[in-house]
Amino acid sequence: MIRVHSDSKHTKISFERDTVSANHSSTEEKCKDMNIDHLRSNGHSVHVERQPKRVDYPRLLALGRELLLAIGEDPEREGLRETPRRWADAWREFIEYDPGTTETTFSSVASDQLVCVSGMRVSSLCEHHLLPFWCDVSIGYIPNEKVLGLSKFARIAQQFAHRLQLQERLGQQIADEITRITGTQNVAVVLKGEHYCMTARGIRMPGRMTSSVLRGVFRTESQTRMEFLRLIE
Ligand SMILES: [Zn+2]
Repeated sequence: MIRVHSDSKHTKISFERDTVSANHSSTEEKCKDMNIDHLRSNGHSVHVERQPKRVDYPRLLALGRELLLAIGEDPEREGLRETPRRWADAWREFIEYDPGTTETTFSSVASDQLVCVSGMRVSSLCEHHLLPFWCDVSIGYIPNEKVLGLSKFARIAQQFAHRLQLQERLGQQIADEITRITGTQNVAVVLKGEHYCMTARGIRMPGRMTSSVLRGVFRTESQTRMEFLRLIE
């Protein structure tokens, strides 16, 4: 579900949880996309990580079995026989996630509007512990000539969440991508996340981590920054 709030100066769009599902295209289409990405990266900032990765599936299967053995389990016992396959499938689904088209833009009708998209929740994996974390993502931007299609914010957030991550880097990559596609430097991204490496191990304390990337007028103009922060409350 998408909620849109609009007055004369501001547009606020909220997603209810999980509006985007994986959209698997054929291998051929994927390779085509990868080529395009590669060509587009020439002469611009380098976005090598935009290309979808592939897993070594047989190796994952063997690793899943090995993991069970390493923790003292019997991979042949009832209940665990299919676990290496399920585990390998989960990794493949996570790593080979295809966000679909993320670059649909439209001509801007009013270039002074603050557009805010919030309520998007993504799941990712902490690269330090290989444990999950989830983040609520809020994105604000002030378009120049190009506005981004509505669903693209969620696709972009999902695209960068589907890899080994750090919350801080996830926010930066989302902001970079919005600038790359729309050309505007006025971008703000706020992430609020819960990390299992904190809640389920180590200190074992529930808590939220908030990180923000504020660029352009969101950095230099306190009024715009406050307006954005108010809209994502
Ligand atoms: Zn961690």
